[in-house]
Amino acid sequence: MRWRPLAASQAPVTIRRIARILTPMTAESTTRRQRAARALAQRLESLRAAGVTHLGRAATVAAAEGARAQAAEGPGSTSPDAPSLKTRPTPLHLPPSAVRLPSECPVGESSDPRAAALAEVARRVAACTRCAELVRNRTQTVFGTGSPHARLVFIGEAPGADEDRRGEPFVGRAGQLLTDIIVKGMKLRRQDVYIMNILRCRPPDNRTPLPVEAAACREYLDAQLAIIQPEFICCLGACAAQHLLGTDTAIGRLRGRLHDFNGIKVLCTYHPAYVLRNPAAKRQVWDDIQILMAEMAK
Ligand code: URA
Repeated sequence: MRWRPLAASQAPVTIRRIARILTPMTAESTTRRQRAARALAQRLESLRAAGVTHLGRAATVAAAEGARAQAAEGPGSTSPDAPSLKTRPTPLHLPPSAVRLPSECPVGESSDPRAAALAEVARRVAACTRCAELVRNRTQTVFGTGSPHARLVFIGEAPGADEDRRGEPFVGRAGQLLTDIIVKGMKLRRQDVYIMNILRCRPPDNRTPLPVEAAACREYLDAQLAIIQPEFICCLGACAAQHLLGTDTAIGRLRGRLHDFNGIKVLCTYHPAYVLRNPAAKRQVWDDIQILMAEMAK
């Protein structure tokens, strides 16, 4: 299955229309068709969270056909383009944000080269099967979210249960705290920064990512950074800081000052989940964020 940027000659096909294509499938409530609907809904949700809002007409039909074929093969299917399938069927539900008519789309959105390049990487991530244990356990991949033109990128550790369910990073309790830091603390909008993780799949039981998993996912992280070209990175927690900077120095010693990563200024601070468990660390995080803000204001 190929997901393609919209060609000029093709009328845009919205995700609402894709849902319409699936309607007869879900109405006939056979297990196979429900699995196909769920597989496609997960793929679309994952791509939506990564910023993909439109697919070419051919890709739409291919997506529906692919999901149908995949369901026929059953939940054990491991074709390279196939998301993992769980046997429990769920109704096709696309969040309102996934459903935008062409007239509601900002002009030029789908022709933004950075958005298109990120969408292409997101497509590869959605089909990634490098880490067998993670692939077996994930609901969907969690690519990254925010502006392809962000000056500031936040990097966390790995998706948790909420993120795995929604296909978007930092949407649980730690995510709410991160949003507060961005919006209330930094006076920025969440959609104007970019947020991603070291891993794009949830580790089982939220365990710490293994070095081999972080290494396998590194190509995607580097690709996202290369496309976005941020001026600043904020590493949230030891995993992000140590992996990005290639060091085993403790986060307590990395925080509080700026580092360099290929010309990008990097600020490391405690992970929001750590702050939730240790409220006293809030002060230090705020001190760190102020260093970042001062640098961004220069
Ligand atoms: N913690 C992370 O490191 N990343 C998320 O996306 C959510 C929680």
